[in-house]
Amino acid sequence: MADAQLSRGNDGDCEVDCQASENVAPSVLANCGRPRLLSNLFAQMPGTVFQLRLEPDGRAYYPYISQSVFDLYGISPESLRKDASLLLRAVHPADRNAVVRALHDSRQSMHPCRREFRAILSDGSLRWRLAEAMPKRLSDGSTVWDGYVCDISSQKELEELLWRQINFDVLTRLPNRQLFRSHLEQAMKQARRDNSQLALLSLDIDNFKDVNDTLGHDVGDRLLWMAAQRLQECVRESDIIARLGGDEFIIILNCLGDHGGVKRVSREILKRLAEPFALGEHVSHVSASIGITFYPQDGLGVEDLLRNADHAMYAAKRRGRNCFSLYTPSMQEIANNRMTLTNDLRAALVDYPFQLYYQPLVELGSGEVRKAEALIRWQHPVRGLVNPAEFISIAEETGMIDAIGNWVFNTAALQAAAWRDAMHPDFQISINLSPAQFRADDGALKSWMSRLPQLGVSGAAIAVEITEGLLLEASDDVLQHFLALRDAGIQVALDDFGTGFSSLSYLKKFDIDYIKIDRSFIQNLAIGSDDMALCEAIIVMSHKLGIKVVAEGVETEAQRDLLIAAGCDFAQGYLFSRPLPAFEFSAWLQERHSSGSQE
Ligand code: C2E
Ligand code: CA
Ligand code: CA
Repeated sequence: MADAQLSRGNDGDCEVDCQASENVAPSVLANCGRPRLLSNLFAQMPGTVFQLRLEPDGRAYYPYISQSVFDLYGISPESLRKDASLLLRAVHPADRNAVVRALHDSRQSMHPCRREFRAILSDGSLRWRLAEAMPKRLSDGSTVWDGYVCDISSQKELEELLWRQINFDVLTRLPNRQLFRSHLEQAMKQARRDNSQLALLSLDIDNFKDVNDTLGHDVGDRLLWMAAQRLQECVRESDIIARLGGDEFIIILNCLGDHGGVKRVSREILKRLAEPFALGEHVSHVSASIGITFYPQDGLGVEDLLRNADHAMYAAKRRGRNCFSLYTPSMQEIANNRMTLTNDLRAALVDYPFQLYYQPLVELGSGEVRKAEALIRWQHPVRGLVNPAEFISIAEETGMIDAIGNWVFNTAALQAAAWRDAMHPDFQISINLSPAQFRADDGALKSWMSRLPQLGVSGAAIAVEITEGLLLEASDDVLQHFLALRDAGIQVALDDFGTGFSSLSYLKKFDIDYIKIDRSFIQNLAIGSDDMALCEAIIVMSHKLGIKVVAEGVETEAQRDLLIAAGCDFAQGYLFSRPLPAFEFSAWLQERHSSGSQE
């Protein structure tokens, strides 16, 4: 392969001492005694057949080499005869020492020599080659290799393709989980060396499932691709972004000066992802939740860091999404707690130890109570009564909400029928619907509606409370569900109004019957306050659209009076009653009737 004096330098690396050799007769196989027939045969073969001879004094030459090398590398037989190292110079500099070392080792051990390397062809292009040669020792101490060099470029391309498929996400072209792990290990090693920190960000797109479910997977894929582009625009080239699957991304931010920089990047990411996504004929709005953990501060192992970042991400989700959370050790405890609660909740689906509490909605004009909101409680065997804030999100994440929602619907519908008989023929109970329940196209809502006649309940006895997020989707499915509710005579209330996008323009499009102003606006109601102005505006505009308004969380008489003055239709809150079990609610209502109370 090369005219090279092989020797080991002091540092153990191979050094090459190239010498010209006078008696090389390239391509003349007959010169070294081989039959001409064989020579002709070799000439027909693809690749390069060669014999390389290394003399005891270090001189090397090619007693035979295929004719094709001369065109391939742009050298002449004459020049190769003078300087056999010409071929070694055609090896890519990065691979040259390895080739020499392979020959050296083969000469020492008398084992076959096998080496892949890149060759620089006469046109400057690079090709991958594989050289294989069998050594033998001659009586004069020379070593002779009979070998063959073939082109393995297409095999290498295939390997490269395979490597990309194994290590990269096909959709976003970002590293996948596998490659990410090795990047993280590298980054941790580097941080240890530099005595620096790195941050790991776990990012989840909040309402991605909605996009996929309502607009289809192609559109969902497009959104993910665009999100990946935006993420890349928010970080430096030295940072790593990977897609772990679905709508889960992970980011490694290297060489941090302080935590402020990470927060800045996180804020920028949230801002960029909140910008509308133009997806063909659709425009989608999403947000993201980010969990942040630091190495080495929060954990020393890859698994620890990944788990921390996830815990922090879930904490961000619980804080209301579209935000980031830094990992704290207590998150581990919260996560363990949630895990236990999830298992307990699954077990609860056997005998449904749930209870509905009812909170009255007072009609402010008349003081009458003909509506109540059903609020679920869970009678936990150890913890006692558990509030929905603790388990509804678990039920939503795990899909258990469907079964629980069905139970709520049945129980509330039967209760509404009973109170219609016993208290008032127009009595109505509203139930809370999680977005997932409303969206599910497996017919949860439809089956409820078809069950109403069997239960002997009219649709008007039920109202459903939904949140604004659903309206923003404005998908056909959501619209269809609205129409179906309307057909069944079930009224719809928009819950927690004011906490989301609060766009009144959406209300026109959907048949909304009630708006429930969120408690946070009622808490600080005072004459001349911003919240007062807001409530007044909501009431006026809702009335213009034919929508009635409920104020949530009314706790004081002053709040109630201000709401009456503003023309609010209904109020709900501790001032009137806390949520009560059914029998206590009946008793409360009877007591109220008999005392003629307006509170
Ligand atoms: P929400 O629909 O906004 O329900 C009102 C919450 O405010 C209730 O909390 C109620 O007890 C509380 N509340 C009522 N009046 C006042 C007041 O004057 N002051 C204060 N500070 N709070 C008041 P709860 O029962 O803990 O329910 C929390 C949330 O859980 C509900 O918020 C609702 O989103 C969800 N939820 C409750 N039951 C169900 C259910 O059956 N299904 C679903 N999907 N979600 C439910
Ligand atoms: Ca509600
Ligand atoms: Ca509410």
